[in-house]
Amino acid sequence: MSIQRIIYCSSAKGLDQEDIEAILESSERNNSANSVTGMLLFNAGCFMQLLEGSRDKVTSTFCRIANDPRHSGVELLSCKAVNSRLFGEWNMSYVSLTGDVGSLLRKYQSSGDFQPSELTDAAAESFCQECANLK
Ligand code: FAD
Repeated sequence: MSIQRIIYCSSAKGLDQEDIEAILESSERNNSANSVTGMLLFNAGCFMQLLEGSRDKVTSTFCRIANDPRHSGVELLSCKAVNSRLFGEWNMSYVSLTGDVGSLLRKYQSSGDFQPSELTDAAAESFCQECANLK
């Protein structure tokens, strides 16, 4: 069975650590029940998330996320069928991009600012993989 992989980005204002923890708690609970895996990045008021799993479960998960009032401006960056998962071991790995990530970002965006909506689909996927290596 092929795996559906999607990457989207969104904006969030005024979220604190408690809000992030609540998002991660429901993500881990729901994603493990649905065999959905992936990673969530947060930096400078922007989320970028990669989700992988069966097409029906990834679709229903994304629909719930897109309707969540805790963020806005949800934009799909990539959507494709693949043969295997990149993040099979994590129901939702969280990476908060803090500290000096400018050099990593500059490989993808000349400004060194986190602006995921400007990434191509291939760059978004590669950036997720590099961020996972920071953990
Ligand atoms: P519960 O987690 O039990 O929550 C009950 C209801 O309250 C839900 O409708 C929820 O949306 C709402 N809610 C809870 N806290 C708040 C709050 N502080 N403000 C507004 N509404 C609130 N869900 C996943 O299943 N998998 C994911 O990978 C995932 N990633 C996410 C990434 C981001 C950036 C965001 C913003 C949300 C993400 N979520 C994810 C959460 C998702 O949007 C839904 O909230 C969640 O799936 C609903 O789970 P639940 O039905 O078990 O409800």
